[in-house]
Amino acid sequence: MSKRVYIKTVGCQMNVLDSEMVIADLKRHGYTVVDSAKEADTVLYNTCSVREHAEEKVYSALGKLREAKERNPEKTIGVMGCMAQKDQKVIFQRAPYVDLVVGPGQLHTIPELLGKVRAGQGRQMAVSMSRKDGKQSVVARSHETFDPLRDPAMRPTPFQAYLRIQIGCDKFCTYCVVPNTRGPEQGRPPTQILAEARVLADQGCREITLLGQTVNSYRFDEDGRTTDLSSLLMRLHEVDGIDRIKFVTNYPKDMTERLLTTVRDLPKCSPYLHVPAQSGSDDVLRRMKRGYTVADYLDMMERIERILPDAAISSDFIVGFCGETEEDFRKTIRLAERCRFKNSFIFQYSVRGGTKAAERLSDDVPREIKARRNNELLAIQDAIAKEDNQKLIGTEVDVLVEGPSKRALRDLTKPGQPGEPIQVIGVPVGDNGGPRNNVPHEEARVEEARVEEGDDSQLIQMTGRTHCDRIVVFDGNRRQAGQMMSIVVDDASSHTLVGRVKTVEVVTIGV
Ligand code: SF4
Repeated sequence: MSKRVYIKTVGCQMNVLDSEMVIADLKRHGYTVVDSAKEADTVLYNTCSVREHAEEKVYSALGKLREAKERNPEKTIGVMGCMAQKDQKVIFQRAPYVDLVVGPGQLHTIPELLGKVRAGQGRQMAVSMSRKDGKQSVVARSHETFDPLRDPAMRPTPFQAYLRIQIGCDKFCTYCVVPNTRGPEQGRPPTQILAEARVLADQGCREITLLGQTVNSYRFDEDGRTTDLSSLLMRLHEVDGIDRIKFVTNYPKDMTERLLTTVRDLPKCSPYLHVPAQSGSDDVLRRMKRGYTVADYLDMMERIERILPDAAISSDFIVGFCGETEEDFRKTIRLAERCRFKNSFIFQYSVRGGTKAAERLSDDVPREIKARRNNELLAIQDAIAKEDNQKLIGTEVDVLVEGPSKRALRDLTKPGQPGEPIQVIGVPVGDNGGPRNNVPHEEARVEEARVEEGDDSQLIQMTGRTHCDRIVVFDGNRRQAGQMMSIVVDDASSHTLVGRVKTVEVVTIGV
């Protein structure tokens, strides 16, 4: 029987990385990757539980596969990721034609379980223990990190890679499913992380993004010594070939003086910090159980501005959380205006089963008020980002070139044209190839594009990112992908800088 797999990824960068890992594992088990569910005999959905909308989209996508399964019962359908861990058997009830349910702590079991399904052993499920099922150490062991050999072909670009340094979370914000779906917070051993970074560098990767739910809380204790994120960054900084190091997502209370000075003193560390504020109201933050006040957040901002004055800061906000009044929302706007974030991901609160907010708080802000607050905050954020980006007009920025912009890909993607199918996995990408300001995590997805094989020197719109994670588009050619280039900024919108390659005048003295 042939082994053709198609994987669809929704969710955050953790899921993008997990899909890369699962594909690498399946390839080692003889699978080949195809570009559509139609061509595949194994279809996997890597899912997200952050918002209700994300889950409904997966159920609706599964619904579309029902007919295909009826026509071809051999087709294997699997659901993996956070929704699998959270809903477990409910998925089999709602979509009885699903064969496989695998939580994010059990991804290493997928090849074996697919084998069992194919061998006629019926539906298979592998999920980790819930937080209430036993002692923390026992539950932690049931959430395994899954970081075998990497598959460079599945990365967004060959020069950039995610590198997981931590799984799980112990913060228990009242709205969040992560402490249940991803289990207790566990740091990966630094030796494993360094070995993986060296493999990535050998594969031509120039930029690594360290991943953790609260990445700056990273700790690993071994032989009486603790490695924190600062020590880890110092060791990663020594890896030849890696030019840029980023880390997401940060927890405000752990943005210490030590970490900020480490970022300042290590040139490879990007002065880009994603630190979700979530709300500008102490009452709301308390109900969210975020563990800090607005004053604490502002103290952190002052620390960043003092130590890293040129850093770009981004944030997440939830609007319409339980009990959020108009006055609470005004405080959020004031915080956004004070902090002048590079960008913010803005979410309208939706109840997530199994969270403390679902159990104890009332989702009492009407849908239309949530939508209005979302739009208002977004408009303010966009105006701030545009103003700050426009200050960069006329300056020169160093950009790691990622490849053709989304606009260029669209122009090159013509039905019926000859082309080589490729898969691009990525975080949300906007019209100019960069993150849209208000795209929720669930829209991160595997995208497919048919890119015309062509002249490498053809002038097309290319996209890249500055050290501060700003998106830059410019006219260039594909050969520039993977290079670090100086770009002069000519124009700027709230999400994108538009520039041109800096040219140098060659003066020949004497011949
Ligand atoms: Fe969820 Fe809070 Fe942990 Fe972030 S810090 S993953 S919001 S529980």
